[in-house]
Amino acid sequence: MLENNVLLSEEETKLREEVKEFVASIDPELLRKMDRNEVDYPFEFLKVAAEKKLLGLRFPKEYGGRDLTWAAESVAVEEIGVLGYGIGCAYSMVSIVGEAINRFGSEWQKEEFLKPIIGGKKICAEGLTEPRGGSDFFGTTTKAEKKGNIWILNGQKRFIAGGKVADFYLLYARTDPNAPSHKALTAFIVEKEMGVEVEEVYNLLGFRGMGTARIVLKNVEVPDEYVVGEVNGAREIFNRMMIPERLTSAAGAVGLARAALEIAVKYSDKRKAFGKKIREFQGVSFMIADAITKLDAARSLVYTAAKASDLYDAGFGNDPRRLVSEAKYFATEVGWEVVNLAMQILGGIGYTQVYPVERMLRDMRLGTIWTGSNEIMKLLIQHETYKMMGLPSKERDYEKDAMDWYKEWEKVYE
Ligand SMILES: Cc1cc2nc3c(=O)[nH]c(=O)nc-3n(C[C@H](O)[C@H](O)[C@H](O)COP(=O)(O)OP(=O)(O)OC[C@H]3O[C@@H](n4cnc5c(N)ncnc54)[C@H](O)[C@@H]3O)c2cc1C
Repeated sequence: MLENNVLLSEEETKLREEVKEFVASIDPELLRKMDRNEVDYPFEFLKVAAEKKLLGLRFPKEYGGRDLTWAAESVAVEEIGVLGYGIGCAYSMVSIVGEAINRFGSEWQKEEFLKPIIGGKKICAEGLTEPRGGSDFFGTTTKAEKKGNIWILNGQKRFIAGGKVADFYLLYARTDPNAPSHKALTAFIVEKEMGVEVEEVYNLLGFRGMGTARIVLKNVEVPDEYVVGEVNGAREIFNRMMIPERLTSAAGAVGLARAALEIAVKYSDKRKAFGKKIREFQGVSFMIADAITKLDAARSLVYTAAKASDLYDAGFGNDPRRLVSEAKYFATEVGWEVVNLAMQILGGIGYTQVYPVERMLRDMRLGTIWTGSNEIMKLLIQHETYKMMGLPSKERDYEKDAMDWYKEWEKVYE
Protein backbone atom coordinates (compact mmCIF):
# COMPACT_ATOMS: atom_id res chain seq x y z
CA MET A 1 0.00 0.00 0.00
CA LEU A 2 2.79 2.42 0.85
CA GLU A 3 4.71 1.90 -2.38
CA ASN A 4 4.95 4.42 -5.17
CA ASN A 5 5.62 4.01 -8.89
CA VAL A 6 6.87 7.50 -9.69
CA LEU A 7 10.15 6.37 -11.24
CA LEU A 8 8.68 3.39 -13.04
CA SER A 9 7.50 2.77 -16.59
CA GLU A 10 4.00 1.53 -17.32
CA GLU A 11 5.34 -2.01 -17.85
CA GLU A 12 7.19 -1.94 -14.52
CA THR A 13 4.11 -0.61 -12.74
CA LYS A 14 1.97 -3.39 -14.21
CA LEU A 15 4.52 -5.94 -13.11
CA ARG A 16 4.16 -4.70 -9.54
CA GLU A 17 0.46 -5.53 -9.65
CA GLU A 18 1.17 -8.97 -11.10
CA VAL A 19 3.73 -9.78 -8.40
CA LYS A 20 1.47 -8.39 -5.67
CA GLU A 21 -1.24 -10.82 -6.76
CA PHE A 22 1.24 -13.71 -6.62
CA VAL A 23 2.51 -12.62 -3.19
CA ALA A 24 -1.05 -12.40 -1.86
CA SER A 25 -1.56 -16.05 -2.83
CA ILE A 26 1.39 -17.37 -0.78
CA ASP A 27 0.26 -19.46 2.16
CA PRO A 28 1.37 -17.75 5.41
CA GLU A 29 2.06 -21.21 6.81
CA LEU A 30 5.12 -21.37 4.54
CA LEU A 31 6.60 -18.33 6.32
CA ARG A 32 5.85 -19.88 9.71
CA LYS A 33 7.39 -23.19 8.67
CA MET A 34 10.50 -21.40 7.42
CA ASP A 35 10.82 -19.49 10.68
CA ARG A 36 10.51 -22.77 12.62
CA ASN A 37 13.20 -24.26 10.37
CA GLU A 38 10.73 -26.94 9.30
CA VAL A 39 11.70 -26.56 5.68
CA ASP A 40 15.15 -26.62 4.12
CA TYR A 41 14.28 -24.21 1.33
CA PRO A 42 11.13 -22.63 -0.14
CA PHE A 43 11.01 -25.07 -3.09
CA GLU A 44 7.25 -24.83 -3.59
CA PHE A 45 7.37 -21.06 -3.71
CA LEU A 46 9.99 -21.18 -6.45
CA LYS A 47 8.07 -23.78 -8.41
CA VAL A 48 4.93 -21.63 -8.46
CA ALA A 49 6.94 -18.47 -9.22
CA ALA A 50 8.47 -20.33 -12.16
CA GLU A 51 5.06 -21.48 -13.40
CA LYS A 52 3.97 -17.84 -13.37
CA LYS A 53 7.16 -16.94 -15.27
CA LEU A 54 8.28 -14.67 -12.47
CA LEU A 55 11.81 -16.02 -12.02
CA GLY A 56 14.82 -14.59 -13.84
CA LEU A 57 12.78 -11.71 -15.27
CA ARG A 58 15.81 -9.98 -16.82
CA PHE A 59 17.04 -12.97 -18.76
CA PRO A 60 16.35 -13.68 -22.43
CA LYS A 61 13.06 -15.28 -23.34
CA GLU A 62 14.83 -18.22 -24.94
CA TYR A 63 16.01 -19.30 -21.46
CA GLY A 64 12.64 -18.69 -19.83
CA GLY A 65 13.07 -15.05 -18.77
CA ARG A 66 11.11 -12.02 -19.94
CA ASP A 67 13.89 -9.73 -21.15
CA LEU A 68 12.87 -7.10 -18.59
CA THR A 69 14.90 -4.35 -16.92
CA TRP A 70 16.86 -4.12 -13.66
CA ALA A 71 14.15 -1.72 -12.53
CA ALA A 72 11.46 -4.32 -13.24
CA GLU A 73 13.39 -6.89 -11.26
CA SER A 74 13.73 -4.44 -8.36
CA VAL A 75 9.96 -3.92 -8.34
CA ALA A 76 9.43 -7.69 -8.20
CA VAL A 77 11.98 -8.09 -5.40
CA GLU A 78 10.42 -5.24 -3.40
CA GLU A 79 7.07 -7.01 -3.61
CA ILE A 80 8.48 -10.48 -2.83
CA GLY A 81 10.47 -8.84 -0.01
CA VAL A 82 7.32 -8.37 2.07
CA LEU A 83 7.43 -12.15 2.62
CA GLY A 84 10.81 -11.91 4.34
CA TYR A 85 14.49 -11.85 3.50
CA GLY A 86 14.68 -15.66 3.12
CA ILE A 87 12.09 -15.96 0.37
CA GLY A 88 13.46 -12.77 -1.19
CA CYS A 89 16.90 -14.36 -1.29
CA ALA A 90 15.66 -17.63 -2.82
CA TYR A 91 13.89 -15.57 -5.47
CA SER A 92 16.91 -13.33 -6.09
CA MET A 93 19.46 -16.14 -6.22
CA VAL A 94 18.19 -17.01 -9.70
CA SER A 95 19.09 -13.50 -10.78
CA ILE A 96 22.49 -13.44 -9.03
CA VAL A 97 23.81 -16.82 -10.17
CA GLY A 98 21.93 -16.43 -13.45
CA GLU A 99 23.76 -13.17 -14.16
CA ALA A 100 27.12 -14.97 -14.15
CA ILE A 101 25.89 -17.77 -16.40
CA ASN A 102 23.88 -15.60 -18.77
CA ARG A 103 26.65 -13.08 -19.31
CA PHE A 104 29.77 -15.24 -19.13
CA GLY A 105 28.62 -18.85 -19.49
CA SER A 106 28.75 -21.17 -22.50
CA GLU A 107 25.66 -22.18 -24.42
CA TRP A 108 25.85 -25.59 -22.75
CA GLN A 109 25.91 -23.96 -19.29
CA LYS A 110 22.88 -21.83 -20.19
CA GLU A 111 20.90 -24.87 -21.28
CA GLU A 112 22.07 -27.04 -18.40
CA PHE A 113 21.91 -24.52 -15.53
CA LEU A 114 20.31 -21.18 -16.45
CA LYS A 115 17.15 -22.61 -17.99
CA PRO A 116 16.47 -25.02 -15.11
CA ILE A 117 16.88 -22.35 -12.41
CA ILE A 118 14.53 -19.99 -14.24
CA GLY A 119 12.17 -22.93 -14.72
CA GLY A 120 12.21 -23.75 -10.99
CA LYS A 121 13.69 -27.18 -11.73
CA LYS A 122 17.10 -26.73 -10.13
CA ILE A 123 18.22 -24.89 -7.02
CA CYS A 124 21.36 -22.78 -7.20
CA ALA A 125 23.54 -21.19 -4.55
CA GLU A 126 26.55 -18.91 -4.60
CA GLY A 127 29.79 -19.54 -2.75
CA LEU A 128 31.85 -16.44 -2.11
CA THR A 129 32.32 -16.24 1.65
CA GLU A 130 34.86 -18.48 3.34
CA PRO A 131 35.38 -19.12 7.06
CA ARG A 132 38.45 -16.87 6.92
CA GLY A 133 36.26 -13.96 5.78
CA GLY A 134 33.71 -12.58 3.40
CA SER A 135 34.70 -8.93 3.06
CA ASP A 136 38.07 -9.75 1.55
CA PHE A 137 36.62 -11.68 -1.37
CA PHE A 138 39.82 -11.58 -3.39
CA GLY A 139 41.64 -13.26 -0.51
CA THR A 140 39.81 -16.50 -1.50
CA THR A 141 41.81 -19.53 -0.43
CA THR A 142 39.71 -22.30 -2.01
CA LYS A 143 42.04 -23.75 -4.62
CA ALA A 144 41.54 -25.36 -8.01
CA GLU A 145 44.38 -27.24 -9.67
CA LYS A 146 44.19 -28.48 -13.20
CA LYS A 147 44.94 -32.10 -14.11
CA GLY A 148 44.27 -32.73 -17.80
CA ASN A 149 40.69 -31.62 -18.47
CA ILE A 150 39.70 -31.78 -14.82
CA TRP A 151 40.02 -29.20 -12.03
CA ILE A 152 40.56 -30.50 -8.50
CA LEU A 153 38.90 -28.22 -5.96
CA ASN A 154 39.78 -27.99 -2.28
CA GLY A 155 38.46 -25.54 0.27
CA GLN A 156 35.30 -24.43 2.00
CA LYS A 157 32.60 -21.79 1.79
CA ARG A 158 30.60 -20.47 4.70
CA PHE A 159 27.08 -19.07 5.18
CA ILE A 160 25.88 -20.36 1.83
CA ALA A 161 22.15 -19.68 1.50
CA GLY A 162 20.65 -22.85 0.07
CA GLY A 163 23.99 -24.58 0.72
CA LYS A 164 22.25 -27.58 2.23
CA VAL A 165 19.97 -28.31 -0.71
CA ALA A 166 21.36 -26.66 -3.82
CA ASP A 167 21.79 -28.76 -6.95
CA PHE A 168 24.78 -26.66 -7.89
CA TYR A 169 26.95 -23.81 -6.62
CA LEU A 170 28.49 -20.92 -8.47
CA LEU A 171 31.73 -20.54 -6.58
CA TYR A 172 35.17 -19.04 -6.87
CA ALA A 173 38.56 -20.66 -6.45
CA ARG A 174 42.18 -19.59 -6.77
CA THR A 175 43.60 -20.99 -9.96
CA ASP A 176 46.90 -19.11 -10.07
CA PRO A 177 48.86 -19.20 -6.81
CA ASN A 178 51.41 -16.68 -8.10
CA ALA A 179 49.31 -13.97 -9.78
CA PRO A 180 47.98 -10.93 -7.91
CA SER A 181 44.59 -11.76 -6.37
CA HIS A 182 42.57 -9.80 -8.95
CA LYS A 183 43.96 -12.03 -11.69
CA ALA A 184 44.10 -15.31 -9.81
CA LEU A 185 40.50 -16.42 -9.33
CA THR A 186 38.18 -18.42 -11.54
CA ALA A 187 34.42 -18.96 -11.32
CA PHE A 188 33.13 -22.54 -11.42
CA ILE A 189 29.79 -24.26 -11.49
CA VAL A 190 30.07 -27.17 -9.08
CA GLU A 191 27.28 -29.73 -8.83
CA LYS A 192 26.48 -31.08 -5.40
CA GLU A 193 26.71 -34.65 -6.69
CA MET A 194 30.35 -34.08 -7.65
CA GLY A 195 31.07 -34.57 -3.94
CA VAL A 196 30.33 -31.27 -2.19
CA GLU A 197 29.87 -31.98 1.53
CA VAL A 198 27.59 -30.02 3.86
CA GLU A 199 29.36 -29.83 7.22
CA GLU A 200 27.32 -27.26 9.15
CA VAL A 201 23.80 -25.92 8.83
CA TYR A 202 23.65 -22.72 10.87
CA ASN A 203 21.15 -21.81 13.56
CA LEU A 204 20.33 -18.22 12.70
CA LEU A 205 18.70 -15.21 14.38
CA GLY A 206 16.42 -14.78 11.36
CA PHE A 207 16.53 -15.73 7.68
CA ARG A 208 15.49 -19.26 8.57
CA GLY A 209 14.33 -22.12 6.40
CA MET A 210 17.01 -21.40 3.83
CA GLY A 211 19.44 -24.25 4.55
CA THR A 212 22.28 -21.79 5.15
CA ALA A 213 25.36 -23.95 5.38
CA ARG A 214 29.10 -24.38 5.35
CA ILE A 215 30.10 -26.53 2.41
CA VAL A 216 33.38 -28.32 2.00
CA LEU A 217 35.21 -29.39 -1.14
CA LYS A 218 37.75 -32.15 -0.71
CA ASN A 219 39.40 -33.11 -3.99
CA VAL A 220 36.17 -32.43 -5.86
CA GLU A 221 36.73 -33.09 -9.57
CA VAL A 222 35.18 -30.51 -11.86
CA PRO A 223 35.42 -30.88 -15.66
CA ASP A 224 36.71 -27.99 -17.74
CA GLU A 225 33.30 -27.19 -19.23
CA TYR A 226 32.12 -26.09 -15.78
CA VAL A 227 34.48 -23.10 -15.77
CA VAL A 228 32.43 -19.92 -16.17
CA GLY A 229 34.11 -17.31 -18.37
CA GLU A 230 37.87 -17.08 -18.57
CA VAL A 231 40.30 -18.94 -16.33
CA ASN A 232 41.64 -16.33 -13.85
CA GLY A 233 38.94 -13.97 -15.11
CA ALA A 234 36.67 -14.03 -12.06
CA ARG A 235 37.04 -10.35 -11.26
CA GLU A 236 34.72 -9.25 -14.04
CA ILE A 237 32.17 -11.93 -13.15
CA PHE A 238 32.25 -11.07 -9.46
CA ASN A 239 31.79 -7.36 -10.18
CA ARG A 240 28.87 -8.13 -12.43
CA MET A 241 27.21 -10.49 -9.93
CA MET A 242 27.42 -7.78 -7.30
CA ILE A 243 24.84 -5.71 -9.21
CA PRO A 244 21.96 -8.15 -8.64
CA GLU A 245 23.40 -9.23 -5.29
CA ARG A 246 23.23 -5.70 -3.90
CA LEU A 247 20.22 -4.38 -5.77
CA THR A 248 18.14 -7.32 -4.60
CA SER A 249 19.24 -6.94 -0.97
CA ALA A 250 18.29 -3.27 -1.23
CA ALA A 251 14.93 -3.79 -2.93
CA GLY A 252 14.10 -6.65 -0.55
CA ALA A 253 14.82 -4.39 2.43
CA VAL A 254 12.40 -1.77 1.07
CA GLY A 255 9.68 -4.41 0.73
CA LEU A 256 10.25 -5.93 4.16
CA ALA A 257 10.34 -2.56 5.91
CA ARG A 258 7.25 -1.42 4.04
CA ALA A 259 5.31 -4.44 5.31
CA ALA A 260 6.36 -3.70 8.90
CA LEU A 261 5.45 -0.04 8.50
CA GLU A 262 2.02 -0.88 7.09
CA ILE A 263 1.33 -3.04 10.14
CA ALA A 264 2.44 -0.18 12.42
CA VAL A 265 0.33 2.43 10.63
CA LYS A 266 -2.80 0.28 10.95
CA TYR A 267 -2.03 -0.54 14.55
CA SER A 268 -1.55 3.10 15.51
CA ASP A 269 -4.98 3.87 14.08
CA LYS A 270 -6.63 1.26 16.31
CA ARG A 271 -4.66 1.08 19.51
CA LYS A 272 -5.70 3.48 22.25
CA ALA A 273 -3.80 4.91 25.23
CA PHE A 274 -4.95 7.64 27.59
CA GLY A 275 -8.33 7.43 25.87
CA LYS A 276 -6.98 8.36 22.41
CA LYS A 277 -5.74 6.51 19.37
CA ILE A 278 -1.96 6.42 19.65
CA ARG A 279 -1.61 8.01 16.20
CA GLU A 280 -2.96 11.17 17.82
CA PHE A 281 0.20 11.45 19.88
CA GLN A 282 2.79 13.36 17.94
CA GLY A 283 5.48 11.10 19.39
CA VAL A 284 3.90 8.22 17.46
CA SER A 285 2.74 9.95 14.27
CA PHE A 286 6.16 11.56 13.82
CA MET A 287 7.73 8.10 13.94
CA ILE A 288 5.45 7.21 11.04
CA ALA A 289 6.47 10.40 9.22
CA ASP A 290 10.16 9.62 9.69
CA ALA A 291 9.74 6.03 8.59
CA ILE A 292 7.79 6.71 5.40
CA THR A 293 10.09 9.57 4.40
CA LYS A 294 13.18 7.44 4.76
CA LEU A 295 11.53 4.51 3.05
CA ASP A 296 10.52 6.65 0.06
CA ALA A 297 14.07 7.99 -0.14
CA ALA A 298 15.48 4.45 -0.01
CA ARG A 299 13.10 3.25 -2.73
CA SER A 300 14.03 6.21 -4.93
CA LEU A 301 17.69 5.37 -4.57
CA VAL A 302 17.08 1.70 -5.34
CA TYR A 303 15.17 2.51 -8.53
CA THR A 304 17.70 5.14 -9.53
CA ALA A 305 20.49 2.57 -9.15
CA ALA A 306 18.44 0.04 -11.10
CA LYS A 307 17.76 2.56 -13.89
CA ALA A 308 21.45 3.50 -13.94
CA SER A 309 22.25 -0.20 -14.41
CA ASP A 310 19.76 -0.37 -17.28
CA LEU A 311 21.31 2.68 -18.91
CA TYR A 312 24.82 1.32 -18.46
CA ASP A 313 23.85 -1.99 -20.06
CA ALA A 314 22.37 -0.07 -22.97
CA GLY A 315 25.72 1.68 -23.45
CA PHE A 316 25.07 4.99 -21.66
CA GLY A 317 26.19 6.57 -18.43
CA ASN A 318 28.69 5.54 -15.80
CA ASP A 319 29.35 2.21 -14.18
CA PRO A 320 26.45 1.91 -11.69
CA ARG A 321 28.67 0.53 -8.93
CA ARG A 322 28.52 3.63 -6.73
CA LEU A 323 24.75 3.96 -6.95
CA VAL A 324 24.21 0.25 -6.44
CA SER A 325 26.44 0.33 -3.34
CA GLU A 326 24.63 3.43 -2.06
CA ALA A 327 21.28 1.73 -2.61
CA LYS A 328 22.37 -1.37 -0.68
CA TYR A 329 23.87 0.67 2.12
CA PHE A 330 21.04 3.14 2.49
CA ALA A 331 18.08 0.79 1.95
CA THR A 332 19.33 -1.75 4.48
CA GLU A 333 20.08 0.93 7.11
CA VAL A 334 16.66 2.47 6.52
CA GLY A 335 15.05 -0.98 6.48
CA TRP A 336 16.51 -1.71 9.91
CA GLU A 337 15.47 1.67 11.27
CA VAL A 338 11.91 1.39 9.91
CA VAL A 339 11.28 -2.14 11.21
CA ASN A 340 12.64 -1.02 14.57
CA LEU A 341 10.28 1.98 14.63
CA ALA A 342 7.40 -0.30 13.65
CA MET A 343 8.18 -2.50 16.65
CA GLN A 344 8.31 0.56 18.90
CA ILE A 345 4.88 1.66 17.71
CA LEU A 346 3.42 -1.76 18.47
CA GLY A 347 4.81 -1.63 22.00
CA GLY A 348 5.05 -4.92 23.90
CA ILE A 349 2.86 -6.87 21.52
CA GLY A 350 5.35 -6.12 18.74
CA TYR A 351 7.93 -8.12 20.66
CA THR A 352 5.70 -11.20 20.64
CA GLN A 353 4.85 -13.62 17.87
CA VAL A 354 1.30 -12.30 17.70
CA TYR A 355 2.53 -9.93 14.98
CA PRO A 356 5.23 -10.78 12.41
CA VAL A 357 7.26 -7.63 13.14
CA GLU A 358 9.65 -9.53 15.42
CA ARG A 359 10.45 -11.96 12.56
CA MET A 360 10.89 -9.01 10.21
CA LEU A 361 13.28 -7.40 12.68
CA ARG A 362 15.33 -10.59 12.96
CA ASP A 363 15.42 -10.92 9.17
CA MET A 364 16.21 -7.29 8.57
CA ARG A 365 19.23 -7.32 10.85
CA LEU A 366 21.04 -9.34 8.22
CA GLY A 367 20.71 -6.55 5.67
CA THR A 368 23.58 -4.42 6.88
CA ILE A 369 25.92 -7.42 7.20
CA TRP A 370 25.56 -9.50 4.06
CA THR A 371 26.07 -9.12 0.31
CA GLY A 372 29.01 -6.93 1.20
CA SER A 373 28.70 -5.35 4.64
CA ASN A 374 27.74 -1.69 4.80
CA GLU A 375 31.31 -0.84 5.78
CA ILE A 376 32.41 -2.41 2.49
CA MET A 377 29.66 -0.45 0.69
CA LYS A 378 31.10 2.76 2.15
CA LEU A 379 34.58 1.76 0.99
CA LEU A 380 33.24 1.33 -2.54
CA ILE A 381 31.16 4.52 -2.45
CA GLN A 382 34.04 6.73 -1.37
CA HIS A 383 36.38 5.02 -3.83
CA GLU A 384 34.05 5.59 -6.78
CA THR A 385 33.41 9.17 -5.65
CA TYR A 386 37.10 10.04 -5.60
CA LYS A 387 37.51 8.26 -8.93
CA MET A 388 34.75 10.36 -10.49
CA MET A 389 36.25 13.59 -9.20
CA GLY A 390 39.50 12.68 -10.90
CA LEU A 391 37.86 12.73 -14.32
CA PRO A 392 38.45 15.74 -16.56
CA SER A 393 35.42 17.96 -16.30
CA LYS A 394 33.82 20.90 -18.12
CA GLU A 395 31.81 21.76 -15.06
CA ARG A 396 31.89 24.99 -13.16
CA ASP A 397 34.77 25.40 -10.73
CA TYR A 398 32.82 26.32 -7.57
CA GLU A 399 35.94 27.34 -5.71
CA LYS A 400 36.19 30.40 -7.92
CA ASP A 401 32.81 31.61 -6.65
CA ALA A 402 34.47 32.72 -3.40
CA MET A 403 35.17 36.44 -2.87
CA ASP A 404 38.88 35.88 -2.30
CA TRP A 405 39.24 32.89 -4.61
CA TYR A 406 42.50 34.15 -6.07
CA LYS A 407 44.36 34.15 -2.73
CA GLU A 408 46.23 30.95 -3.52
CA TRP A 409 48.73 31.78 -0.76
CA GLU A 410 45.95 31.27 1.82
CA LYS A 411 45.09 27.81 0.48
CA VAL A 412 47.46 25.88 2.66
CA TYR A 413 47.08 22.10 2.76
CA GLU A 414 49.95 20.92 4.89
C1 LIG B 1 22.48 -15.58 6.90
C2 LIG B 1 23.61 -15.32 5.97
C3 LIG B 1 23.50 -15.68 4.64
C4 LIG B 1 24.57 -15.49 3.78
N1 LIG B 1 24.49 -15.92 2.49
C5 LIG B 1 25.63 -15.97 1.74
C6 LIG B 1 25.66 -16.66 0.50
O1 LIG B 1 24.64 -17.19 0.04
N2 LIG B 1 26.82 -16.73 -0.18
C7 LIG B 1 27.96 -16.15 0.30
O2 LIG B 1 28.98 -16.27 -0.36
N3 LIG B 1 27.96 -15.48 1.47
C8 LIG B 1 26.84 -15.39 2.20
N4 LIG B 1 26.84 -14.74 3.43
C9 LIG B 1 28.07 -14.16 3.91
C10 LIG B 1 28.06 -12.64 4.03
O3 LIG B 1 28.06 -12.03 2.77
C11 LIG B 1 29.28 -12.26 4.89
O4 LIG B 1 28.97 -12.64 6.21
C12 LIG B 1 29.65 -10.81 4.79
O5 LIG B 1 30.18 -10.49 3.53
C13 LIG B 1 30.72 -10.42 5.87
O6 LIG B 1 31.77 -11.33 5.87
P1 LIG B 1 32.25 -11.98 7.27
O7 LIG B 1 31.05 -12.50 7.97
O8 LIG B 1 33.33 -12.94 7.00
O9 LIG B 1 32.80 -10.77 8.09
P2 LIG B 1 34.27 -10.13 7.98
O10 LIG B 1 34.65 -9.98 6.56
O11 LIG B 1 35.16 -10.88 8.88
O12 LIG B 1 34.00 -8.69 8.61
C14 LIG B 1 33.78 -8.53 10.01
C15 LIG B 1 33.51 -7.05 10.29
O13 LIG B 1 34.63 -6.25 9.88
C16 LIG B 1 34.21 -5.27 8.96
N5 LIG B 1 35.24 -5.05 7.95
C17 LIG B 1 35.92 -6.00 7.25
N6 LIG B 1 36.77 -5.41 6.40
C18 LIG B 1 36.61 -4.07 6.56
C19 LIG B 1 37.20 -2.94 5.97
N7 LIG B 1 38.13 -3.04 5.01
N8 LIG B 1 36.82 -1.69 6.39
C20 LIG B 1 35.87 -1.56 7.35
N9 LIG B 1 35.28 -2.60 7.94
C21 LIG B 1 35.64 -3.85 7.55
C22 LIG B 1 32.93 -5.81 8.33
O14 LIG B 1 32.12 -4.77 7.81
C23 LIG B 1 32.30 -6.51 9.52
O15 LIG B 1 31.63 -5.55 10.31
C24 LIG B 1 25.75 -14.87 4.27
C25 LIG B 1 25.83 -14.48 5.62
C26 LIG B 1 24.79 -14.71 6.46
C27 LIG B 1 24.95 -14.32 7.91
